[in-house]
Amino acid sequence: MLKTPSTDRYRVLRRQLSEDGRAIEVHWADGHRSTYPFKFLRGYCPCADCQGHARKALNWQSPEDVELVGVRMIGNYGISPQWSDGHNTGIFSDNHLRRICPCADCINWTGDTESISPLPE
Ligand SMILES: [Zn+2]
Ligand SMILES: [Zn+2]
Repeated sequence: MLKTPSTDRYRVLRRQLSEDGRAIEVHWADGHRSTYPFKFLRGYCPCADCQGHARKALNWQSPEDVELVGVRMIGNYGISPQWSDGHNTGIFSDNHLRRICPCADCINWTGDTESISPLPE
């Protein structure tokens, strides 16, 4: 049988704010839905300033301390969040977003070389 083309895995159909306004939801072309709490996204910021410690920095602030001020679309391949701490240089490509999806299915997925840690308590 044909498998879902891997490009669908990284293609975004839709991005939206979660109902509680504390997370970004992404609907993927392969049918998957991801929810990224702001705190989680901030900790995984891929920009040069945050890189290197981003994957260990999930507890760098309490969830109450960081708010999403806005989101800039970067062409059709990513988003750039503006945070209440003034940080706005991180660009989350669709590929990056899918790789850091914190759901159990994605954490256990072994089709990619990059592995991630589960969400902190
Ligand atoms: Zn950053
Ligand atoms: Zn997932």
